[in-house]
Amino acid sequence: MIRRIKGTQDILPGEIKRWQDLETVMRNVSRLFNFTEIRTPIFESSELFHRSVGETTDIVKKETYDFEDRGKRMNTLRPEGTASVVRSVIENKLYVEENLPLKLYYYGPMFRYERPQKGRQRQFHQFGAEVIGSDSPLADAEIINFAATFLEALKIKNVQVRINSLGDAESKEKYQKALREYLEPNIKNLCEDCNRRYVENPLRVLDCKIDKDNEALINAPKPYDYLSDKAKVHFEQVIMALESLGLNYKIDKNLVRGLDYYTHTVFEIDSDLETLGAQSTLVGGGRYNNLYSSLEGPDLGAVGFAFGVERLLLALEGINHETETDNIHAYFIALGDIFQTDALKIINDLRHGGLVIDYDFFNKNLKGQFKQADRMNPKFYLIYGEEEAKAGVVNVKSLTTKEQVQVKVEELYQYLVNQLTGRSCSGGCSSCDGC
Ligand code: AMP
Repeated sequence: MIRRIKGTQDILPGEIKRWQDLETVMRNVSRLFNFTEIRTPIFESSELFHRSVGETTDIVKKETYDFEDRGKRMNTLRPEGTASVVRSVIENKLYVEENLPLKLYYYGPMFRYERPQKGRQRQFHQFGAEVIGSDSPLADAEIINFAATFLEALKIKNVQVRINSLGDAESKEKYQKALREYLEPNIKNLCEDCNRRYVENPLRVLDCKIDKDNEALINAPKPYDYLSDKAKVHFEQVIMALESLGLNYKIDKNLVRGLDYYTHTVFEIDSDLETLGAQSTLVGGGRYNNLYSSLEGPDLGAVGFAFGVERLLLALEGINHETETDNIHAYFIALGDIFQTDALKIINDLRHGGLVIDYDFFNKNLKGQFKQADRMNPKFYLIYGEEEAKAGVVNVKSLTTKEQVQVKVEELYQYLVNQLTGRSCSGGCSSCDGC
């Protein structure tokens, strides 16, 4: 038997409703904030991710799915969404003045070769959003508020917004230098990864999960202390906007985030729900002011977030989120030879009117068809045999009232709609006594 690849998941019919409900909330909240969807390919030139995510990040060093195509070009399955959005905005010149700021969201599968565990997969899904073409702190606040509002709409309440600033390029450079000098005498006592990061990108030493309680890291200088005056004002204004939105947040001076491209604001939202296990971060994001220009685009400030959808679903399990199962309006029980009557036409007409109808393909007997119907939780059985065909009627049995009535075929659709919507009949219908 061929099995699915480690770290991937089938989303089976029994689980799909949870996904679709979440996707509905995602689209509704995106609409409220006036963000439009963008869909980019799931694979790109490898160079795109090397240059944007960063050569020194774990993602590019150890986690990308790279393959050479038949034309000997190197391609990569996207490990995240921002790089592709940036590429697309530049390539399609979406950045013309009158479009700005662009407010885009994306949703879809991402691929990282990581060690699979609960909440960490090799194919996973992200919902992300980006405000492009604005340096305003209001854009940072809009993104954080959008992420928080989405969680609220999903009724995930036990959350903590953590926020920090890395400052502009100048602040970041000053800080990196100070941090390197500080770490030099201590680096031997830190883990192997920290030693590598120290050389390649010292900022990321602060992100270390292994040494996070090490004194040397706790006492290390923080990016906040090296912010330029301009960067400080930007951060203060983001905080002021969050305050006026009444949004609960905590400044976390150790927060740096894994990707190289961040400048100024970085943030994460965590949840303490037990169902998440060790992976408690639901969303991460921040501002990336230099990414467009580093990919040969115009100088566009941008800020965004990315939610891990599998983790959101784990969080929803933790709050016992009830998903209503999909019911059908009616199950059509055809007796006798379905090819000799107009049963298929009746079913089709009801569907074209917007009613959800199912029926049997296996030529089951009456008992078998009732059993099959009950699995779908219909509101009505529609029973139709040769006699009903001759008389031009259908027997309609309501599973709510248990009553059964005969309805003329031409009145069936309106009868069902009236019953389903609780409307009384408009008269002239011979199948009921005035509803
Ligand atoms: P990142 O792009 O690394 O900032 O991740 C953003 C969000 O995507 C994280 O907060 C997670 O919720 C989710 N995520 C990242 N990597 C994985 C993975 N391997 N499996 C499942 N979710 C992930």
